[in-house]
Amino acid sequence: MKVRCGSCRTEFDVPGAGRFACPVCGSVNVVRTAAGQQPPPQQQAPQQNLGGYPAAPGAVPGAAPPPPPPAQEQTLPKVECPECEFTFHVGKIAKATCPNCSAEVSTGVEEEDEG
Ligand SMILES: [Zn+2]
Ligand SMILES: [Zn+2]
Repeated sequence: MKVRCGSCRTEFDVPGAGRFACPVCGSVNVVRTAAGQQPPPQQQAPQQNLGGYPAAPGAVPGAAPPPPPPAQEQTLPKVECPECEFTFHVGKIAKATCPNCSAEVSTGVEEEDEG
């Protein structure tokens, strides 16, 4: 930008705001911008993915993880049929019927009292 020396009216070029000595008379000329203040440095750098990698096309950022496996059923007591030695799960019942031989099997599980 062109400034004019305040002492000798000589025009000389300066890169911007600041204090510059006149090349002719040596007087220091304070150069200001139109606004009277030095503008802050605005470096419009292109937006970058800092600390990351570009997302692959089609990929959904922050995709939800696969759902957890379904909760397992409550572990039921296991009994062995005294007739056929077939082992099977029983519920909260004192006697169960063997699904293999239909024999009545005592599970040893106490039924819930109802009063
Ligand atoms: Zn001058
Ligand atoms: Zn059985």
